[in-house]
Amino acid sequence: MALKRRDLLLGGGGAAATLAASQLASINPATAQVPGPPAKWQLSTDVVVIGSGATGLPAAIVAREAGASVILVEAEKDIGGHAITSGGNVPLGGGTSVQRKYGINDSPDLLFRDLTDWSVVEPNGFPDYRYNDREIIRAFADNSAPTFEWLLAHGVVFVDKTPDDFGGTSVGNSVPREMHSAAMNWPMVQTGKPADPMIQKMLSSGNGLMRPLEAAARKAGVQILLEHRMTSIYREQPNSGRVIGIAVEHNGQRLNIRARKAVIIATGGYTGNVNFRRMFDPRLTEEYCGLAGMPWSNQDASGELAGMAIGASLWGFYNQTGEFGSNLTKPGTIGTQYGYVNLKWMPGSPVFDRARASGLSVANWQDLILVNMLGKRFYDETGGQFTANDYNSIKDYKQGSYLNAKNAKYNPNNFIDAALAGIGDGHNGGGPVWAIFDADALNREKWDPNPPNVDTKSGFFFSANALRDLAQKIKMKYQRVPMSPENLEQTVARYNSFVDSGIDEDFGKPMPLHKIEKGPFYAAWATPVVHDSRAGLRINAKCQVMDMNARVIPGLYCGGESAGGFSQHGLARAACQGYIAGKNAAAEKA
Ligand SMILES: Cc1cc2nc3c(=O)[nH]c(=O)nc-3n(C[C@H](O)[C@H](O)[C@H](O)COP(=O)(O)OP(=O)(O)OC[C@H]3O[C@@H](n4cnc5c(N)ncnc54)[C@H](O)[C@@H]3O)c2cc1C
Repeated sequence: MALKRRDLLLGGGGAAATLAASQLASINPATAQVPGPPAKWQLSTDVVVIGSGATGLPAAIVAREAGASVILVEAEKDIGGHAITSGGNVPLGGGTSVQRKYGINDSPDLLFRDLTDWSVVEPNGFPDYRYNDREIIRAFADNSAPTFEWLLAHGVVFVDKTPDDFGGTSVGNSVPREMHSAAMNWPMVQTGKPADPMIQKMLSSGNGLMRPLEAAARKAGVQILLEHRMTSIYREQPNSGRVIGIAVEHNGQRLNIRARKAVIIATGGYTGNVNFRRMFDPRLTEEYCGLAGMPWSNQDASGELAGMAIGASLWGFYNQTGEFGSNLTKPGTIGTQYGYVNLKWMPGSPVFDRARASGLSVANWQDLILVNMLGKRFYDETGGQFTANDYNSIKDYKQGSYLNAKNAKYNPNNFIDAALAGIGDGHNGGGPVWAIFDADALNREKWDPNPPNVDTKSGFFFSANALRDLAQKIKMKYQRVPMSPENLEQTVARYNSFVDSGIDEDFGKPMPLHKIEKGPFYAAWATPVVHDSRAGLRINAKCQVMDMNARVIPGLYCGGESAGGFSQHGLARAACQGYIAGKNAAAEKA
């Protein structure tokens, strides 16, 4: 139900409006009509930052230290967004002090040329950098090293070693640029306690990036409002004039926050919004519910939708649909909704009640088969996700040379595409993928198939003494059609015959090693995980948001995963764009 404008306006007296639960559920930029300026503002500041992740915290601190008053609103109970759950691998280059210390020659020009090199293609033919917006990349290249030095100056400790190529993607091929924020003794959101003291200075972790920034923001006087979810952005007129503030929902009430200078959208993308992500890829239906970074925070597209509602344009669609990098990933843990390979929730985590299970980490994909909803295999289980370019990925790399593209050896690596292909019944989406294994596999992998390792309660893990019974037990909300017991029995029997012959006649799995024959048998959720948002709102070099006529929307900024035009995984582009946006937002006239 779309809200009428009068419903969105506050009642008199300046008190925050109390909203019925049904109204709150429908206050979503996707459905709300664009609100006009509110009758009353409950709070007022120079700069409002929406989101406290890798973009939002740097933006807020930079703006505050430039003299602006800043309110940062965060939808969740704690700061950090995906950034705090991340691996803390930060590819900021262009000539940082650490690159210089270790004798690596980098420059803004080299970084710019790397990230706009048309000739870099993946083995499946998809180019990493060809569709990057030159203006945005130039701004990143020029501000990359200053952002790194700024992080150091604001308490982030990096592992003291030579930059390498570990953990980031699409960061350029010429020189190593990856640096790693050290976990130090901050409590880890994954476990609820600090890392082992022996490894605190060596372990790369997003906790070591975000907690020092939170401390720096509080010290600088940024007002952080947790559990304040932005529901819309106000402009003077719905599609013209300056941006003047935002509405947030907090504890069932709506508050209006006036921004005298600017609003910065740092909400982290849209991969958790099914309809939004399907604009880029119709296959990504509801069953892809194991978003990386959840349940610490969601990527619900609220920033993009609120921006679009006041005229903002989207940008850089190819970077989302191109088959490279970690936009779509193969799970690394199974038997849990949240199976992202680099994030395991442990019972001490403050969000374990929402994560519900840690999952079983797969050491060897030879220990299981993967089947679709019908109980049929679809690909070689040892197959991986899409590849992505990084330092040294192209050997004998010569910037801009036609030989880079010409020498790429074609290897399509279609695991993800096969998983998302569906069962041929006219529905979009591949449906659940189940890992099927037996008691012997359990011993080989040293798995304990009980909660809290697996999520039996919500239907992400099943077991039975016979394969036939296992198929019949698989009932959960994303299993649209029952798995046929005959199918599962036949699939396993055929796979076992491939183990005998040593040849997988169906999908070319190299030397199938282990039969599935000893009960009990298990079915564990192993559905692909959606990860990065790489398209988003159109911005210029200053991170100002632009409309469909390429005009700046005055007073509106955006960066990180909610901004488009830049194909790169993660933290560097987010922190750098936060740094740029914070500076320019503070410089606006009140
Ligand atoms: C498990 C994992 C590991 C990763 N590892 C790496 C890595 O090693 N290196 C790397 O470069 N990248 C990594 N990434 C990616 C990186 O963390 C993200 O790209 C980066 O954090 C994006 O920054 P952001 O500011 O755009 O979004 P986020 O960091 O996600 O922050 C967005 C914030 O906005 C808040 N928010 C959203 N909507 C609203 C609203 N309506 N109102 C108020 N607040 C709102 C969210 O709750 C969240 O706190 C990883 C990601 C994950 C999930």
